[in-house]
Amino acid sequence: MPEPLLRVENLDVAYLAADGPVRATSKVSFTLEDGEILGLVGESGSGKSTVAKAAMRVLGQPAVITGGSVRFRGREVLRMSDAELRQWRWRDVSMVMQSALNAMNPVMTVLDHVLDTLAAHGITGAAAKKRAGELLDLVEIDRHHLRSYPHELSGGMRQRVVLGIALALTPPLVFMDEPTTALDVVVERQIMRKLVALQAELGFAVLFITHDVSLLLEFATRIGVMYSGRLVEVAPTQLFRDGARHPYSKGLLGAIPRIDSDEAPVSIPGSPPSLKNPPPGCRFHPRCADALDVCETREPPLVQIGADHWAACHVLEVA
Ligand code: SF4
Repeated sequence: MPEPLLRVENLDVAYLAADGPVRATSKVSFTLEDGEILGLVGESGSGKSTVAKAAMRVLGQPAVITGGSVRFRGREVLRMSDAELRQWRWRDVSMVMQSALNAMNPVMTVLDHVLDTLAAHGITGAAAKKRAGELLDLVEIDRHHLRSYPHELSGGMRQRVVLGIALALTPPLVFMDEPTTALDVVVERQIMRKLVALQAELGFAVLFITHDVSLLLEFATRIGVMYSGRLVEVAPTQLFRDGARHPYSKGLLGAIPRIDSDEAPVSIPGSPPSLKNPPPGCRFHPRCADALDVCETREPPLVQIGADHWAACHVLEVA
């Protein structure tokens, strides 16, 4: 079997707190193939952003990777030197963060931002300026905005610019961490449609992090659900929409307001556990209506429950 574009295996990340390490993610494993959009969804603190940052080696202190493996086309990312990482980022993988305003330097123009990125990879002069114009065309921003400063652009335009910069070297993989969360819903949908159109045109893969499962139902190829630092279900989008099996995934789907149904959305009772002091066994058991005795003591492993369908739940193991 050829190696997938990205293979994350048993990824463990901890926050080094003064009173001891706190496990932020635990044994997270998934693959991402060329050209697909894998969405990772979960509540705040579920570890989804931590996974993306760890995979790209951009975690900030006090977070540290304590175990596991991240392979890009079979090459171990966790063993890359700083020089290798600098080359790998942007050329092979880029990242779009939640707030374009924070990602951009307020005293640099759009052109400066693009030229900086290209120069770091040896593209300068007329070729770089030509590429800057092409990138704005790509994300449908008028070229006169090359001279604009970030504060002169709307939130949606800034996010498009950041997306264009992320595609500057046409990487095969783009990480997107809540890239549309700060935008209103109309602009969010416009950006998502643009992203999907570009993805279809250029063929890059996306690891898309969000707390909004409805966005993934519309735009992702596959969906992975994170809860309290663990991946609890992974399935192709259609299968997930019609047949999610993990009780937490079903809760996420049941909480979506629907215009085609009289049924009121039902929110999941309770709140996510503290990572510092998580419950034993399945971390979802205090909120789970299906919990068995074993759920309070034994953690369910992520196992295959169908074709391309994985879940971590004791009920599904014995079914
Ligand atoms: Fe619920 Fe038990 Fe499954 Fe956890 S393992 S989701 S508590 S049924």
